[in-house]
Amino acid sequence: MIDHTHLPTTQSWLLSANAADTDFPLQNLPYGLFRRSGSNEDARVGIAIGDQILDLQRAAAAGRWSSAVQVLLQPLSRGDLNAFMAQPSSQRRLLRHAVFDALAEGSPQQPALSACLLAQTQAQMAVPCRIGDYTDFYTGIHHATTVGKLFRPDNPLLPNYKWLPIGYHGRSSSIGVSGSHVRRPLGQLMAPGAEAPVRAASQRLDHELELGVFVAGGNALGEVIDIADADEHLFDVTLLNDWSARDLQAWEYQPLGPFLAKSFGTTISPWIVSMDALEPFRIAFAHPPSDPQPLPYLDSPKNRAEGGYDIELEVWLQTAAMRAADQPATRLMRSNFKHAYWTLAQMLTHHASNGCNLQPGDLLGTGTQSGPAAGEGGSMLELSIGGKQPLTLPNGETRTFLQDGDCVTLRAFTHKPGTRRIGFGDCSATVTAALPA
Ligand code: MN
Repeated sequence: MIDHTHLPTTQSWLLSANAADTDFPLQNLPYGLFRRSGSNEDARVGIAIGDQILDLQRAAAAGRWSSAVQVLLQPLSRGDLNAFMAQPSSQRRLLRHAVFDALAEGSPQQPALSACLLAQTQAQMAVPCRIGDYTDFYTGIHHATTVGKLFRPDNPLLPNYKWLPIGYHGRSSSIGVSGSHVRRPLGQLMAPGAEAPVRAASQRLDHELELGVFVAGGNALGEVIDIADADEHLFDVTLLNDWSARDLQAWEYQPLGPFLAKSFGTTISPWIVSMDALEPFRIAFAHPPSDPQPLPYLDSPKNRAEGGYDIELEVWLQTAAMRAADQPATRLMRSNFKHAYWTLAQMLTHHASNGCNLQPGDLLGTGTQSGPAAGEGGSMLELSIGGKQPLTLPNGETRTFLQDGDCVTLRAFTHKPGTRRIGFGDCSATVTAALPA
């Protein structure tokens, strides 16, 4: 589904959208929820363009739109992204095309819409929609193998891993948007060889580099989603940091999986990038021939031909000392979503395959996306080999796990000749000290 909104040569009348390194060119058009900084006005949905936000509340009133597009703009004006997510993909695409045309160079809408822009630096972003349920998968096979070796040296990948997308149910109430803080959690720590755990602040606080995908239209309870229809049910992709307390996790995770080690906080990026914008970056997907092949309900010609996405991923770290000395963040690693063992369509299809009802605005995390090589770990647990090999930062500081004051930033972008670069914006949050135990 490549169309004129993917042409790399089309420019915007907004000059900042034409900069080579912008995350938000005309070809991206991601949605976010915002209000003006310092105001107590109601939040509404906007679209990031260059260094600005197109305020859809004002644009609905000031722009000239077809009646079909006006209908789509109404819930967005009210800040109700969920109602828009529930629309069929054809309707969502209609709005993308209308906004693309209105922001393109030469559009007669330029004078009216110029007055509907707000600088991103003057906006306070919010979690973009009501996230009813949040599920985190585990599709990064290099992460699963490395972490599995640390927890179970003889048995890193359990036998189910190559047959189904493993997941656990996360906590949506503690999802925050980039720019917030994450408090170091308290929990039970069980030292090796100790007779009893102690309650203390986590000493092994970690990040996880993930993408998240929002569910568009859902399915009724008891019904399933055919993988052939999966794309229709996927809305947008965000960056997701699944903060993890490894010491709490090691003690509590068997037999039911992560609980308090992860429910204390999750950070997402404020701008969610539409599946339409990512269409040129789809890639073929396959399990290695020597691995089990997906059961029929997790397999389709389309999933094989283009179920994967080529998205570059990075983690950056700025410590409190670096910030105090005005030193920039340092990049800890890079990876790519193309290494994932399961596709977004397989995650969604599997989730609904028992009749579980998914709803507009539900969030599915992909699991940590580590690359195949050493140094491409998407968590400190991997980069420091379970805390045994500290990383040395450019200013001489070392890290095994995160310290108070550390700011972790996830970044993602596409990079493919003949296309416009699409970025996701930053997903940043800073660690603050634990409460007294
Ligand atoms: Mn995770």
